[in-house]
This record gives sequence, structure tokens and C-alpha cells, in this order.
Amino acid sequence: MEASPLFNAGKGAVFTHEETNELDASFMDGKTLNAGAVAGVKNVKSPIELAVKIMTDSDHVMLSGEGASIFAKEKGLEIVDPSYFYTEKRFQSLQRIKNKTTTALDHDDKKAAFYDADIKNAKFGTVGCVALDKEGNIAAGTSTGGMTNKRWGRIGDAPIIGSGTYANNLTCGVSSTGWGEYFIRSQVAYDISAQMEYQQKTLKEATKDVIQNKLTKLGGTGGVVALDKNGNMSFEFNTAGMYRASMNDKGDLVVKIYKE
Ligand code: ASP
Repeated sequence: MEASPLFNAGKGAVFTHEETNELDASFMDGKTLNAGAVAGVKNVKSPIELAVKIMTDSDHVMLSGEGASIFAKEKGLEIVDPSYFYTEKRFQSLQRIKNKTTTALDHDDKKAAFYDADIKNAKFGTVGCVALDKEGNIAAGTSTGGMTNKRWGRIGDAPIIGSGTYANNLTCGVSSTGWGEYFIRSQVAYDISAQMEYQQKTLKEATKDVIQNKLTKLGGTGGVVALDKNGNMSFEFNTAGMYRASMNDKGDLVVKIYKE
């Protein structure tokens, strides 16, 4: 999915205010609770591969920017020219938002306009994946270009373990998409797992409470793909739609965009 220009991750990532692409990703192994994350890389072809490498080949959980690129290079991951991530569609989205923000009057208007295009269209486009193997091991990963017009090295929820990604064999795996600031403040992915662990909620109950109740009350928009240790799936979102697909152990593929 990072290689497809259709998604806001890898090629096809949204643009920053400075007209660059800065990529975030994270990965977590639910068996060991090991995790790896990367924030703000500009030239690593597959940020999710880098997140996995950080997990398996370093003593750290999160690397960022230049240093993360150096680590990627040392580990033999593919480095590309930043122009690889360019797509005309995303570039035009940035121009549309920029035109709006320069005509906005005060700070609050600007803040609203900053996110406007993405929020209203409610198609965040981050990619996330959760998988369960026959041994009961859960893994989750998330990769994104973040939000259009971001600046000052802004980092969203996608590389934050517990917000954008979480996996624990005792409970579930979760990958988030949405307005990252709210997902960080709500610790969305971990909260779902915690509700299952401490309150014995089902995956459906926990995802529903965190997205439809807690996140919505704060004003956050987005959703999660989640899978529990028994193979139950939940796709909970408070936006008009969320591109999603699932496959069970028989290979039945389901693809959906809007609510059930
Ligand atoms: N959650 C991502 C971020 O805030 C954006 C997205 O899901 O598309 O960076």
C-alpha cells in the first residue's frame, strides 16, 4: 500500500507546508510487546519496513528525521530521491488548503482551515494493518504521510505506540487513522486494549466506546481497524467512510468504504 499512489503513505503521501513529504510509521509485535517507529523521514521508500527494522535491529523504539535515514541506509533499506513521493493530486490538495489559510482571518479560522479539506472529506488515507496468525500472535502496523499542510516537524499519531498502533496477544491489535492530535490525546489504540484487559470488554464494545464516545466527545474524527486474539474484527469510525478490507482464514475478502 505504501507503493500505491492511492494512499496517504509512501508514494502518494500528503505534502507539508514546505511542499515536502515527511513520513511516519510504526509497528508492534503483540507476542513480545516489541515495537518500532519512525517519524519525519523524507527519503526511505518503505517507512513501515524501517519501523520493523528499528524494532528488530536497534535498541530503540522510535527514530526520527536524518538519523532514521542514516539507520535505514546502514541496514540496507531502499533510499529514494524525495521526488519519488510526489503525486500531482496531493500537491494540488496542498495548494487548495494554502489558498484557504491565507484568506482566513484569525488564528481559530486558520486552525480550522488547516485541517478543513481532510476533515470534511473524511478520507484520511493513512494505511494500517492488523494480523493474527494461527499461533495467536497479533501484529499491527501503520504508515502515513500525516496531514496536508503540516509544518514545524509536526508528528501525528501514526508513529506513536499506543495512539496510532498497538498490539498485545492478551487482547487485540489496533491501527488508527484520523486527526492525529486527538488520537494522541486519547491514546486510542492502547485504550481499546486496556478496556479489554481491565474491563473485560469485547473488541466491539471497546472500539465503540473509544471512537464513538471518548474520541467524538473531544472533537476528534477518524477510526480504527482492530482484530482480537480470537479473530473478531472491528472497523469503527465516526467519519462518513473509511476504506477498509479484511480477510479471514478461509481467504474470504471483504472490501468496504461506507458504514454497514
Ligand atoms: N492520523 C494521521 C496523522 O494525523 C493522518 C491520517 O490518518 O491520514 O498524521
